[in-house]
Amino acid sequence: MRGKKTMSLVKSRYLVTSERAYRRADGTVVRLGYLSRRAQVFSVDINTADLLRSGAIDAIPAAKRKELARLGALVDAQVDERGEVLAGFRAGSGSLRRRSFTIMPTAYCNMGCSYCGQEHYKSRHSAERAERLLARIEAAMDHKETELVTVTWFGGEPLMAYRLIGEMSERLVARAEATGTRYHSQMASNGSLLTEHKLRYLHDSCRLRRLDITLDGPQEIHDRRRFLKNGRGSFERCVGVLGKVAHDDVAPGLSINLRVNVDQENEAHVTTLLHDLAAAGLAVSRFTVQFMPVHSWGNDISAVELEARSYARRETEWLRLAADLGFGWHALPTGTKTTACTATTRSSEIHDPEGQVYSCSEHPLVPGVRDTGVIARTEDLTATELRPEGTFDDWYDQVENSSQPCNGCPLLPVCGGSCPKLWREGHLPCPSFKFNLQERLDLVAVRRLGFRTAESGVHAGR
Ligand code: SF4
Ligand code: SF4
Repeated sequence: MRGKKTMSLVKSRYLVTSERAYRRADGTVVRLGYLSRRAQVFSVDINTADLLRSGAIDAIPAAKRKELARLGALVDAQVDERGEVLAGFRAGSGSLRRRSFTIMPTAYCNMGCSYCGQEHYKSRHSAERAERLLARIEAAMDHKETELVTVTWFGGEPLMAYRLIGEMSERLVARAEATGTRYHSQMASNGSLLTEHKLRYLHDSCRLRRLDITLDGPQEIHDRRRFLKNGRGSFERCVGVLGKVAHDDVAPGLSINLRVNVDQENEAHVTTLLHDLAAAGLAVSRFTVQFMPVHSWGNDISAVELEARSYARRETEWLRLAADLGFGWHALPTGTKTTACTATTRSSEIHDPEGQVYSCSEHPLVPGVRDTGVIARTEDLTATELRPEGTFDDWYDQVENSSQPCNGCPLLPVCGGSCPKLWREGHLPCPSFKFNLQERLDLVAVRRLGFRTAESGVHAGR
């Protein structure tokens, strides 16, 4: 009789361990592991962690090996993990279970931000076009495979078309209820036209569940970078409304993400912005802050990478402050991706106010590339047909067959490759957590898990 074959285990290619050691409340010294394949953080005693790091898997006691295999930190050596991850992305990108529609209800914006690449104009509303688009989304809800439909209201400034958003949403909510399809919406807004009443309505009647608002600095800086076309600023009014929303818990199911676009002009003011927002009452868990680097991209990727690293260092300080002040914060992604972006799945599509359909969000309203990104017109698509392929729908074949970094990146399952367009243009689109992962693990260890750094016995990052 043959003996049972023992599986040979190796460290998952999607596991990153902390360089720093931490002391738990019971005195055990551990390292953290971040397993991007499951988007999970776990702690492991330092001896085991060091064997894992050195690849001496056979020296890890059998019970521990079993536990690490259960977590997914150790995998069967015969398994092609990268192949499985890429297959998962292909399946996610091709699935009809989730359909996503980005709608630009207007091409106009009341702001004239210095760095905006869009060209805004007063587009004429067409009831016929809106009807065709609604019929298309309703058909998606009717599809037996579709479980979730999301709409992202995008612009221009979507709140310039507040009434239209309400009318379209009420139709979509009614169809979602009739078909038992999960439905919610999200919006990217400049915040200048917000009122408590509008937020309440958007939340209650339009199922708005996430709102992204960009604030680029304290009042003076924000109003200089993101000025209204009538010459006025909007910071005070916008933050005032958000303060009341936080205080009175208006639209309680709505998460509000405060996005800060950071470049050399405003990086020195981010700390003041966070203190100002906290003073206005926004430092509560439903308000998250998200920092986005605005790179001055050059052709030389190594130069950009250095810049990305220095940005990432500063970002860690801001994240730490945001956590201290009481804002919601995400140290590391808590979910794996099904696809990189709208451009990599035919289940997502973007509709501009003229009825043109795009796969990539960097084309609509952008002079010079606007026409090259059009893949269809809404009226040419049958209601049940997926959008035609765009330039990046074969993204995961490109990742598999190229030597570009995503292919071997330990963070691929939670990143998806970020932005195929930027890769193709020779830029480095990696999210900042690629560069400050260790500092982010420090934040998780100390702020979330209550560990102390093992070396000094003081809280990390203080
Ligand atoms: S974009 Fe960067 S972080 Fe994302 S998978 Fe590719 S190499 Fe990794
Ligand atoms: S390719 Fe880049 S710019 Fe285009 S939709 Fe994807 S993330 Fe956005």
